[in-house]
Amino acid sequence: MTVGIVVVSHSAALASAAGELAAEMAGDRLRMALAGGVDDPDAPLGTDAVKVMAAIEEVDSEAGVVVLMDLGSAVLSSEMARDLLPPDIAGRVVLCEAPIVEGLVAAAVQAAAGAPIEEVLAEARNGLSGKASHLGVELTSPPGRAAEAAAGTTDEEAVTATLVVPNVLGFHARPAARIVETLAGLQAQVRITDRTSGRGPVAARSLNALITLGARQGHELELVATGPEAAEAVAALLALAEQNLGDPREEEPGTVTGEVAVGIDAAPVPAPPTDAEVGFLTGLPAAPGLAVGRVQHLGMVALPPLEELLASAPPVAGEPASEHAALEAAIAVARAHLEAARDDLAARAGARAAELVGAQLLLLEDPGLLDPTRSAIDDRAAAASAWAAAVTEVLATYRVVEDPYLAERAGDLDAVGREVLASLVGFERAEVEPRGVIVADDLSPAQTARLDPARVDAVVTAAGSPTAHAALIARALGLPAVVDVGGAALELADGTEVVVDGDTGTVETAPDRARLAAVRAQLAERAQAHEALRVAASAPATTRDGTHVEVRANVGLLRDAERAAIEGADGVGLLRSEFLFLDRPDAPDEEEQVATYRAVCRALGGRPVTLRTLDVGGDKPLDYIELPVEANPFLGTRGVRLGLLERDLLMTQLRAALRVAAEHPLELMVPMVATLEEIAAVRALMVEAREALRAEGIAVPEELPLGVMVEVPALALKARHVIEAVDLVSIGTNDLTQYAMAAERGNPAVTELSDPLDPGVLALIAAVGAAAEGSATPVAVCGELASDPSVAALLVGLGVTELSVPPVDVPAVKQAVRQVTLSEARELARQALTCRSAAEVRALLG
Ligand code: PEP
Ligand code: MG
Repeated sequence: MTVGIVVVSHSAALASAAGELAAEMAGDRLRMALAGGVDDPDAPLGTDAVKVMAAIEEVDSEAGVVVLMDLGSAVLSSEMARDLLPPDIAGRVVLCEAPIVEGLVAAAVQAAAGAPIEEVLAEARNGLSGKASHLGVELTSPPGRAAEAAAGTTDEEAVTATLVVPNVLGFHARPAARIVETLAGLQAQVRITDRTSGRGPVAARSLNALITLGARQGHELELVATGPEAAEAVAALLALAEQNLGDPREEEPGTVTGEVAVGIDAAPVPAPPTDAEVGFLTGLPAAPGLAVGRVQHLGMVALPPLEELLASAPPVAGEPASEHAALEAAIAVARAHLEAARDDLAARAGARAAELVGAQLLLLEDPGLLDPTRSAIDDRAAAASAWAAAVTEVLATYRVVEDPYLAERAGDLDAVGREVLASLVGFERAEVEPRGVIVADDLSPAQTARLDPARVDAVVTAAGSPTAHAALIARALGLPAVVDVGGAALELADGTEVVVDGDTGTVETAPDRARLAAVRAQLAERAQAHEALRVAASAPATTRDGTHVEVRANVGLLRDAERAAIEGADGVGLLRSEFLFLDRPDAPDEEEQVATYRAVCRALGGRPVTLRTLDVGGDKPLDYIELPVEANPFLGTRGVRLGLLERDLLMTQLRAALRVAAEHPLELMVPMVATLEEIAAVRALMVEAREALRAEGIAVPEELPLGVMVEVPALALKARHVIEAVDLVSIGTNDLTQYAMAAERGNPAVTELSDPLDPGVLALIAAVGAAAEGSATPVAVCGELASDPSVAALLVGLGVTELSVPPVDVPAVKQAVRQVTLSEARELARQALTCRSAAEVRALLG
């Protein structure tokens, strides 16, 4: 048997014509089969792996089969065909990189002559030598490959080298990007052939081409460079290979998936299945509750597919010059957008994660996209249709093979393609209203506060911490939240139905129908139970032996205040007024503040409201106040410290509070107080504000109760003096814990340390409770600790007289209070204070 020859081309006509030529040269002994075009009368150009497979089988024999292909998907389809064949046949099939006409003719002649496959291949690869020598082009050894590199590039001498792919993950996006970057600025054309897989040659300046090469660790690559700086280019690439192509040496397959914040990286080698693939993502529980809903990526504006974008504003081609300018402008817009994302990621997830966006940015410079776009514009196409066509063409080469890695790359390219096209066709991006299960890298407190619990089911973030403000706000809104899930969360497709369990910190990414039904049944049961508690919650909470414990609500926006009233709160124990100040270009003026505080008071229908003065700094920046750059913002200009620094801001708020207090039972509370001097300073400002209002003839109350938050351990330890200086105290256990345990609340790495049940933190609470004993000064706890019904008795036993909790938790906390006596609570507290760890305290609470 002679070696079989298969011709694969996008065009049936080309395959048949090339075959005709070869048959003419080789004669009757030639065993050849053609796989040209696809069986679609409307779009006949393309390649079909099944057709290629059939052609191989037709000419297969022990002697082997040589496959010659034209470009792009022909190579990928041939590879796929080989993969689909039984191993014994696949093992004797060689995909040959030789040119389709010259190589085919040479191979056909050799095969028909009965030569072994090695000689057929050598001859095919040497197919260009005759033409080259005729034209005076010198081919370097091995001739076939050098000729490939030289063809269509330059007639300068080629520099060749061999590079063995060093890194575990092979040519994924990041190393490919590094190669493109390395060649930037060098005057050289470099083409790379993967000798191991037979793929290539591809242009090394094209990220797309490099990725489709799919070179894996250990593959032997041939570099062929031409141009004045060919030697430098090859040397630079070899040096890059020495550095493991920029990948860390210890990297193992799959390790990058955890940090894929923008979904542009993944291992080309089969990685172990991720949590998402097996149906679960795990993070940290940040706000309790169960929810089922569809994923919506926050901040992502759904751009329609390429074709729809193109159809939304069919482009009319202008002069090439203006179309070129439009293309450049659209690319600049997309670049600015991606650069902002990269910088943001660099700040939050580190340089390596940001590099992934960097690779995406390179797509905007890819000659594989830009060259065809620009030449189509030169041929008088509109920039939009030229760009869309180029993107679609490259996408087709990605999608021809079912490979999860290439599918992801296709996703990146598609996203970048839409980004540029949207700008070209003037597509207006409407902000999507958050609904369903909101997925984001992280959420700011202001972003979280704006979520509407009537539309949003739950929150899932890749980063974040359960003790950060965003989590607390989710809790206040009654939204289950899971944080610190990792980059896999960002890869969930929009619209995926998921189950979020804020108690366990899990997200089920592929619940089946039965599971969804079970979860919905559970939710209905919980709602019913809550409803029963809520009915009872309108009555005050007293211990079994008659001690009244005030149970109030923590609220941010008016919506929470309305909810607080519905849930039966005895008032508002913490009005986080900063939400009126965040995420806007300037501060609310006195009138706006009056209107807001008044609305909250009205919502509570005469029940008392404790207004906390502006608590910004830390993780809550203000756009219009230049906060000093600090190494440790949580230990810096925060809360009252900022208020005393920005006196006008505080003064306006005090004036607004005094005006509302003239009509409603309002109390004032100052955050982050560390010293008695700070209390005195705020009181002095309040006197000043009252006098000013009086002088203006505006009604003010005789007294506006003034309180402090106990968040700084030193203040807790001098509580005796504090109690004398104020009308109320409220222990902010969130901050008190972070400062007492020296564990930043926004840092997931120290979440375990941030445990308010640590006996050290309890001792600080006890110190405040003891100092207030016998006085008329109420001692509240408004940190998240108070919202846990199992902790209510302990807090009461420590001397706490008021619990302020997220509105949804009011009914359960009231019920918990009603179940104990004061003496039982005190005994529990006594025992808790003897514990050595939070775990022991927890065990004590059962
Ligand atoms: C606290 O620190 O416990 C508190 C209630 O304040 P915030 O969480 O708003 O800082
Ligand atoms: Mg606080």
